[in-house]
Amino acid sequence: MSVKTEKFLQYPPNRDIVFVLGAGASHADGVPLQRDILPQIISGINKEIESSEIGKIVNDFIKDNFKFDIPNNSYPQLEAVFGFIDYFIQQNESLSAKYPYDTLRNIKEYLIKLIHYIVNLETDKSSYHYNQFWTQVVKRNTNVSIVTLNYDTLLEQSFDFLFKNHGYIDYCIPLMNYQRTPQLSRFNFWVNPREPVMVDAGENPVPFKIIKLHGSLNWKYCNCCDQTLLTPWDRKIDLNHGKFVGYTYPEKEEYELVCPLDKTEFQTLIMPPSYIKTLHHPVITQLLGEAAREIRSTKKLVFIGYSLSNADVHIKAFLQKHVPSDLEMVVVNPKKKESMELNYRSLSRNIDFQYVSFEELVQDQSLLESIFTLKAN
Ligand SMILES: [Zn+2]
Repeated sequence: MSVKTEKFLQYPPNRDIVFVLGAGASHADGVPLQRDILPQIISGINKEIESSEIGKIVNDFIKDNFKFDIPNNSYPQLEAVFGFIDYFIQQNESLSAKYPYDTLRNIKEYLIKLIHYIVNLETDKSSYHYNQFWTQVVKRNTNVSIVTLNYDTLLEQSFDFLFKNHGYIDYCIPLMNYQRTPQLSRFNFWVNPREPVMVDAGENPVPFKIIKLHGSLNWKYCNCCDQTLLTPWDRKIDLNHGKFVGYTYPEKEEYELVCPLDKTEFQTLIMPPSYIKTLHHPVITQLLGEAAREIRSTKKLVFIGYSLSNADVHIKAFLQKHVPSDLEMVVVNPKKKESMELNYRSLSRNIDFQYVSFEELVQDQSLLESIFTLKAN
């Protein structure tokens, strides 16, 4: 029989590498890029969206306020639609009798739920490429943290094979799942890596920070008790009522997922792209602080599949504040683009650009070797 002992998993004071993952990393497994999301909502391709209650409301709103051309594949940008709605919300203004302030707020949440629904369609699986990525981390260097701008959960689902023996995921927020109260007992399955954990003799697991700066599909936020519930398997949304759906185990019966503490309806915790981005969400604020500490304490910063576009001015501001100007950086992106290079060069004078995709990177042993090697030690 194996003997378990209690162990406190600690982080070294400095990080060797912080990875920053963008849409290009998840796109390798079919998660749609931002520009492909709105067409799926308004082109009528997706019958489930088209016939659903919240799908109809959002479609009406976009048709009333934007012109687009389906045969020529010309659609408004997602960040322009959100920017438009955010303008009214921020100014506390109504658009018309049909779209008063409160309706606009609801439409914004519905549009977020449709995005959640679309991204989730490609998320219900384990990812080959992320699996390769984790294999490399375990083999080469486990003193790494990951900051991701993706809402999908492929990165975490691919971590399964490492769980317990090799490591624990640390989302860096105080999840409701960690509370030992009767109402939450069925959500206690997630281990808090910041408290002592039980380990088998001879095992030496490490915690990995996964910092999801734009939120996550498997987080449900309650704005009554200000807490977040992690539901790793329940990410489904009922498109007619806009509500989250959970499943009982093992019967698999559907039920409406509400806050176990106060029965309040949950909200999504994903930050949509917008030209007017406000990052006042308490969870996101906390994660920005955590990511800042990681970046300030790392020896190397590696960006994968992230273009640092002008729409992400909040990330540019964040990086400009926290990245030391001589930090060793690698940018892995399939497309060479001068505007992207210049955006990155404003952060550090010590950058190596690698024009390959995430799929190619995880297969390329010599490139992996150079990425995991630190210049100055
Ligand atoms: Zn609550």
